[in-house]
Amino acid sequence: MTVTKECLSAPVKPRDFGFFIDGVWHHGREMYERSSPSHNQSVTRIACCTTQDLNAAVAAARTAFDRGNWTQQPGAERAEVLSRTATLLRERKDEIAYWEVLENGKPLSQAKCEVDHAIACFETAAGATRLLHGSTFNTLGPSLFGMVLREPIGVVGLITPWNFPFMILCERLPFILASGCTVVVKPAEVTSATTLLMADILADAGLPKGVYNVVTGSGSVIGQSMAEHPDIDMLSFTGSTKVGRSCIKASAESNLKKLGLELGGKNPIIVCGDSNLDDAADAVAFGVSFNTGQCCVSTSRLIVDQSVADDFEQRVSEKMAKIRVGNPFDPETQIGAITTDAQYKVILDYIDKGKAEGAVLLCGGHQIVRERERYIAPTLFTHVTPDMTIARDEIFGPVLSSFRFKTVEEAIQLANDTVYGLAASVWTQDISKAFRVTRRVKAGRFWVNTIMSGGPETPIGGFRQSGWGREAGLAGVEEYTQLKTVHIETDKRSHWIAS
Ligand code: NDP
Repeated sequence: MTVTKECLSAPVKPRDFGFFIDGVWHHGREMYERSSPSHNQSVTRIACCTTQDLNAAVAAARTAFDRGNWTQQPGAERAEVLSRTATLLRERKDEIAYWEVLENGKPLSQAKCEVDHAIACFETAAGATRLLHGSTFNTLGPSLFGMVLREPIGVVGLITPWNFPFMILCERLPFILASGCTVVVKPAEVTSATTLLMADILADAGLPKGVYNVVTGSGSVIGQSMAEHPDIDMLSFTGSTKVGRSCIKASAESNLKKLGLELGGKNPIIVCGDSNLDDAADAVAFGVSFNTGQCCVSTSRLIVDQSVADDFEQRVSEKMAKIRVGNPFDPETQIGAITTDAQYKVILDYIDKGKAEGAVLLCGGHQIVRERERYIAPTLFTHVTPDMTIARDEIFGPVLSSFRFKTVEEAIQLANDTVYGLAASVWTQDISKAFRVTRRVKAGRFWVNTIMSGGPETPIGGFRQSGWGREAGLAGVEEYTQLKTVHIETDKRSHWIAS
């Protein structure tokens, strides 16, 4: 489907989606109806799967894994399927972006860039299928040879969130497939459409049946059952730290499945007095507002050199005030609607807390009321102290808290004053300072004089309570494998028991 200018509005009636098991579409007995956060109009109807449906999906993934027609295929053949998927995604980019916008509320232009990133993930993973390897030991004596084989871990459960439904799927799925694993995916109920569209795309690309299965429904039913499932070998979960913890518990109480977790963040950006202040201010405004701040690596804490703080905060505030908020189908729009009613309320509550606890509101701090839609103006609080709620909690909205430092040591301490460790950034012209800060700040992703840049070649993941494991890149494929150590004796055995 090509999305032409005329159809860039919400559909007249919602589109029904089934769920996908073992290469076959099934109808839901009950359906969940999703309203577009930007249009307040019903756009999709998604099946509310049952735990029986989940069991069927896991059984299909297990059979496909054991059948071996994906798992044991040469890497080159798996690479072909992943490359064909990239080609098909390119052809269906407009359609995928359209449904992403309708369910999530993000601007169409951004959704298209995210599909481009997804394509790059499939291309990177295609290359990785041929590079995945173990190691050998030729150092064990004259007749003993050692090999370490990498084997796919088995059936992977993949639970994805609503903030980047398609992009987060694609930062994991191609790497899981590259490893030779089979998958059962549960997208966030409010944003399931594009994960379901992927089923036909993968089938058209030649992925054998049973390798990719999708069950839809609520996290408390389907997600929880996946975390507890005795026949899922690994669970990759992206979402809140609270649910990440419950997945750990469920794994411990079921089959000790391996976990990959990408959780919350409270990401600092350190701006030194010697940096290019205009570039840094633009990066800060982008970092906190991109995807309406509903982003795990969102810049939520500004840590700025006291000597330039007044000027810098003013620059950031002026830039934030110019951000174009509104209809995601308008090509001028930079940020769209807040994705869910619950999140909308959470963000407004945090803004109220910031005001009540004494932070100074420099810009934003209000809803932008346009008919029935959910928009929040990018918001900057200054004079925030580390004990305030807005300084500590992940807000997951376009709300920035500003702190000031006198010495670099103080900046590092402020940056590390959080339970999280997902991402961080420093802005300075001094290379030694940049390296010093890079090495001391606890974060899985670090940017110097840039923000949210990079590609699927490099691994992503968090330190501390931001998660376990890494996604993307060769490390992201290895994550879904396990090592088997093999020893081969080439000489006659020297006997333990005397004959
Ligand atoms: P959740 O952690 O609840 O949701 C993330 C995913 O987990 C969704 O697919 C959800 O399904 C599923 N899920 C929910 N409950 C369970 C469970 N018991 N077991 C297994 N899976 C489950 O996040 P929320 O949507 O509630 O958002 C709350 C906060 O989480 C946000 O304010 C933000 O701070 C953080 N968050 C962080 C994300 C990140 O990228 N790091 C992404 C999303 C949220 P369903 O939605 O269908 O119920």
